[in-house]
Parts: sequence; C-alpha cells; structure tokens
Amino acid sequence: MDQVPHFIGGAKVFGRNDRFGEVFNPATGKCTSQVPFAGTEEVYLAVTAAAKAFPGWASTSPLHRARVLFKFKDLLERDAESLVALITSEHGKVLGDARGEVARGLEVVEFACGIPHLLKGEFSDSVGTGIDSWSLRQPLGVCAGITPFNFPAMVPMWMFPLAIACGNTFVLKPSERDPSAAVRIAELFKEAGLPDGVFNVVHGDKQAVDALLAHRAVAAVSFVGSTPIAQYIYSTAAAHGKRVQALGGAKNHLIVMPDADLHQAADALLGAAYGSAGERCMAVSVAVAVGSAGAGLIGELAPRVQNLRIGPGTQPQVEMGPLVTRAHLERVRGYVDAGVREGAELVVDGRNFRGEGCEGGFFIGGCLFDRVTTDMKIYREEIFGPVLSVVRAATLAGATRIVSDHEFGNGASIFTRDGQAAREFASRVQAGMVGINVPIPVPMAFHSFGGWKHSMFGDHAMHGMEGVRFYTRLKTITARWPGGVARGAEFQMPTLE
Ligand code: NAD
Repeated sequence: MDQVPHFIGGAKVFGRNDRFGEVFNPATGKCTSQVPFAGTEEVYLAVTAAAKAFPGWASTSPLHRARVLFKFKDLLERDAESLVALITSEHGKVLGDARGEVARGLEVVEFACGIPHLLKGEFSDSVGTGIDSWSLRQPLGVCAGITPFNFPAMVPMWMFPLAIACGNTFVLKPSERDPSAAVRIAELFKEAGLPDGVFNVVHGDKQAVDALLAHRAVAAVSFVGSTPIAQYIYSTAAAHGKRVQALGGAKNHLIVMPDADLHQAADALLGAAYGSAGERCMAVSVAVAVGSAGAGLIGELAPRVQNLRIGPGTQPQVEMGPLVTRAHLERVRGYVDAGVREGAELVVDGRNFRGEGCEGGFFIGGCLFDRVTTDMKIYREEIFGPVLSVVRAATLAGATRIVSDHEFGNGASIFTRDGQAAREFASRVQAGMVGINVPIPVPMAFHSFGGWKHSMFGDHAMHGMEGVRFYTRLKTITARWPGGVARGAEFQMPTLE
C-alpha cells in the first residue's frame, strides 16, 4: 500500500512509528493509501527544520520572497489538473468544484506576491525636533497551520503563502483524511526555489497537533475545522503563549424575501446547499422563507433536489459526489433520522439513494426539510452534508433575529429586490460574511475570511490584510541622530517637542 509521506526540511519522510491512518477514495469506498501519524519526534523534526530556516528566510528581501511566490504560482497553474485529480480522489468532490478550490487558493498566492507593497510601513518625519519615527512589521518565527478535510488545498493556502511571504517559516498539519494535496504543494514550492525547511508538512491526529501546540519554537497557530476543536486549539495555544486564530463550524442561513425571484433563489440554494455534498463551511444549510415566500420556494426546490445528478466526482455532468467517509455518511443519515423524529417535514428523502457506479461509495441523496423550527437538533447543529432546512418567518426582522440568534455566525445571505431590506439586513445581522443576492459570500483573497461568534476564535481573520497582520508583529522606531540639540538628563515622560 502507498504511503503519503511527511515533507520535512525539503525531503519526504516516511512514518517512524506504527501509527497510521487509512485514506479512502470516497466514490468507491476503497482504501487507497496509508498516512503516517506523526508523534512528538516527527513534529520536533519539522519544527526544528522550520526554526533553522527562519533566520535566513526572514532576512531574505520581500522582493526576493515575492519572486519565489511568483514561480510557485506558475507551477501551481502548470500542475493544477493533477492537484484537482488528487483532491477529487481523496475528498470526493466533483472535478469542477476541485478546480474552483485550487483557483481560490491560487488567488491567495497571487495576493501574497504583492508582499513588498503589503509590508510597507508608516513613517512620520519630525515627530520632535530632529526626531523621526517609523513603524514596520516583522515576521513571527515558526507558524503552524492545522486544516480540515473539506478544502485540502484551499484552506492551507489561506495560511502558508502569506505567512511565508511575510518571512515566517511554516509547519502544516493537514487533514489526515485527504493528506496528499499538501505534500504535492510542498514539492511544488521547493521546485519554485523555496529553501528547505521554510515549508514543512506533518500528518497526524491529536498527538501531532498537541506536540505543535506545546512546542516552544512555534510562535503562532492558524486553525480551521470544527468548533469544539477550534475552541480547544484557541485555549491551548493561547495558554502556551502563542498567537492564535481558530476558525470553527457554521450554519449559514439564506433569507428569501417574498419579493425575491424564487426561481433564481432556488437555483442559488441548490448550488450552495448541495455543492460539495454540503461539506463546505460556507454551505447554506438553512433557508429562512419570509411571509409568502415559503410555499413557492419549496415548490421550486423539491424537484431540483430530487433530480440532482449524483455520482463519482470524476464523471462529467455529475453535480454532487459522495461524503468523505463512511462514518460521516452514517452521521449525516443520523441527523436526517433525528429531523424526522423531531417532526420536521422531510420533503425530499435522500437516505436510500442508489446510483449506478455508486455501489460501495459513501453516497447519500439530497435531503430537503420544511417547517424546521429553531429548537430542533437539525437546526441547531452543523450537519455538514447535503441537507437543507427551510424555516418559516413572518417578517424580515424576525428572520434576521433567527439568523443572529444562532450559535454560529460565519456567512448569511439575503435574496430580495428591496435595497432597503438588504441594507437593513447587512447592517444588523450577526455574521462575519454577508451576501446580498449572492448565496456564498466568500471574500476574495485581498479581503479577509472570518466568521463571528462560535465560527471564529481570535481577532484576526484569514488572508487579506488581516492575514498580513496576523503573521507579523509591529515594531515602532523613534530615532534621533547626534548633532541635534543636546539635552541633559530628563526625568519627566518624554514629549518629543
Ligand atoms: P475537524 O475539527 O475534525 O479537524 C480539523 C483538524 O483538526 C484536522 O487537521 C484534524 O486532524 C485536527 N483534529 C481533529 N480532532 C482533533 C483533536 N481532538 N485535537 C486536536 N486536533 C484535532 O474538522 P473536519 O471534519 O476536518 O472539517 C470540517 C469542519 O471544519 C466543519 O465543522 C467545517 O465547518 C469546518 N470548516 C470551517 C471553515 C471556516 O472557515 N470557518 C472552513 C472549512 C471547514
């Protein structure tokens, strides 16, 4: 059986203990490779390699760092199709969606290519007589990234291109369920001229993560994954004195106003709820139908959900692939069972989906619930599968309250023709990313990605200028050169006049 190696100090490193995980092709249900689970030893090797590479990389000029990133971008474009195939084979998403993922990751690399401009500081001439002051941002040291299964290329690329562009070195711990893309990306970065040790990949589970969180040489931790783990990472990394940003789970709502084009809203909901089999942190899992929109929306949605083209992600025309693992499939089925038990109306039941070529894979059909209420488990918890709940609300104010009262606050959208309603919603809703007639409002690389409430812990969102700030620390210098006015000892607070 093939083994997915770690990538440490510029070289592949194979497992050094007897702890391994299995990687599956979700479309066939077959195990395709083994992934070694790092223990303290491999994590120490990776952090040591990164710490050793840091002084040289930090003192490499931003212009030169940018040139390595430009080359890396070229290589990512050259090999995009092989990365796409790798993602689909281990995650299950359809090829077109995997292409979108690589493209969105590449956009962060493009943004990071502008690092000489992004790192420009501030300068004040003559803050006092003969005294100037300026601020600059310097890298932190070794940064660690811990990432989820659902975007094995894009989410790591939210982190390391910018961290490395800022002069840091990086240790990535990707998801053990689809680990190969990270290693391929590390090889490309090396080919682009990145010095050994600047970017390392270690695989593993909690043991590897805990070793990273406790390592004295790790200065900052970026995490994306489920909320309970995000909370754990946030508190543990902070307790070890590290800078930390930890993005968690979501339950994204889309409000449909009675004046919206229901046909268009249903199309938008279909892609947003069932694309990538609902395994997106920005997937819309709740539609809030306001006033008379409810019946019409269900009428538009039901046949579309029934007719979703489901199959292996490699097949052309397929719209939705399998779930990532058998355990996750059982979990999602369990949520649908719970929704039925709690009295929600299951309009489309995908639990017993059977499709040609899908035997053995982790497939489920699209599920659509109507008349879901906010006390139900299927409403409160993140399902992370192709299950859309429709909740009814009488007014926009009531609908906005529903969205804002939810534990999670990642994305929220409204479909309407009424500018005042849209403005009111965007201003009041308690969520970090808001869409107006846009179902999945994922910010571009030059803006920043981050939710509110239990969707994000820490105060810096990912990429954009938030990313630059997270991966650098501020230094402010105040300078006077000899030859100016001589002063004797001063005992009062300096006022620089
Ligand atoms: P997960 O929390 O199970 O795993 C994420 C990472 O944490 C993995 O690398 C995993 O190995 C590690 N991990 C798992 N258990 C751990 C433990 N006990 N201690 C330390 N580390 C541990 O998440 P997942 O199932 O891979 O991904 C899906 C989740 O990620 C969903 O909740 C989704 O909403 C969330 N997500 C959020 C965003 C966002 O931007 N907010 C983006 C993508 C995914």
